[in-house]
Amino acid sequence: MTAELSDVPVRELLRIGVGQPVDLAAIDPRSTPGLPGLPVTGPDRKAWARDEVRRLGAGLARQQEMLFAQAVKAPASARRVLLVLQAMDCGGKGGAVKRVAGAMNPLGLHIRAFGAPTAEELDHHFLWRVRRALPAPGYVGVFDRSHYEDVLVVRVDSLVPEDVWRPRYDEINEFEAGLVDDGFVLIKVFLHISYEEQRVRLMSRLTDPTKHWKYHPSDVAARAQWPEYQAAYAEALRRCASDAAPWHVLPADRKWYRDWALAHLLREHFADLELTYPPADFDLRREQARLLSDTSGKRKMNGS
Ligand code: ATP
Repeated sequence: MTAELSDVPVRELLRIGVGQPVDLAAIDPRSTPGLPGLPVTGPDRKAWARDEVRRLGAGLARQQEMLFAQAVKAPASARRVLLVLQAMDCGGKGGAVKRVAGAMNPLGLHIRAFGAPTAEELDHHFLWRVRRALPAPGYVGVFDRSHYEDVLVVRVDSLVPEDVWRPRYDEINEFEAGLVDDGFVLIKVFLHISYEEQRVRLMSRLTDPTKHWKYHPSDVAARAQWPEYQAAYAEALRRCASDAAPWHVLPADRKWYRDWALAHLLREHFADLELTYPPADFDLRREQARLLSDTSGKRKMNGS
C-alpha cells in the first residue's frame, strides 16, 4: 500500500503554540496528522503502521547506541534525551513505552513511572523525586507520568491548596529550562484519548482476565472528573509550552497511529543531535597488528 505522508515534520503538526490557548476539545483523538493519504479504517493501515514502527525502531536503536557511545568517549559533552509521557488513565503510555521505547537497547534506557508520592517524597519539594530520576548522560529517559502530576491530579483532587500548586507552573518552566541548558533534549507528549475510548479500554480491563490487574475501582471516580482533568491539562500545556521544551498533543485513540507518531517524534529529535559513532582514539593499524601478532595467551595456555 502506498501512503501519502505529509512533508511537515510530525513534531510541527503536534506541537502546541507557545503562549497560545489550548483547546483539547478541538483536537480529534481519532485523527492521524501526517497520514492524510491513509484510509481511516481497515486492517491494512495497522499492518502498514506496525511495519513502519519496526523500521523506525531500528533507526532509533542505532541513534540511541550512538548517543551512548558519545557519552562513553566524551562524558562531559554528552547529551541525554528525556521523553515525558502524560495521559488520562488508559491513555496508552504503557503501550507506547513497550512498542516504541522497547525498540531501543534496554541497557541505554532509563524508564521511570511516577505513582502517588511516598511518605519520603512528600517530605521533599515536588521536583526532588524527579531530579533523582533523570537519565545520566548518554541515556534515553522515559517518564511515565511526571512532575506534571503535581499540577494535574494534585489540582483536580485538591491535594494541596491552589496557592501551593499554582506557582508550580513557573517552577516547572525554570526546571525544564535548566535541563535544556544542561544538554537535555526534552520531548513532552500528551497522549490524547477520547472519553469514549477510555470507556472501551476500561471495559476491556474488566472483561479480559489478563487485564484485571490493570484495573482500579478508583479509575471510575477519576473518569467522573474528566472535565476537570481536561481543564487542568489544557492549562498545564499552555503554561508550560516553551520553545526549548514544547508540548505535543498526540491523538491516541488509534494505537497504531500513536506508535507511528511517537516513533517519528523521537526520530526527528535525534536527527537534531547529528549523532555519529565516535572515531577510534587509538592507532587502528597498530592495534590490528598487535592483535594479529600476539601469541602470549596461547603460549600460556600451552604451558610454555
Ligand atoms: P498508570 O495509569 O499510569 O498506568 P496505575 O493506574 O497503575 O498507573 P500507579 O502507577 O500506581 O497507578 O500510579 C499512578 C497514580 O499515581 C495515578 O493515579 C496518578 O494520578 C498518581 N500520582 C502520580 N503522581 C502523583 C502526585 N504527585 N501526587 C498524587 N498522585 C500522583
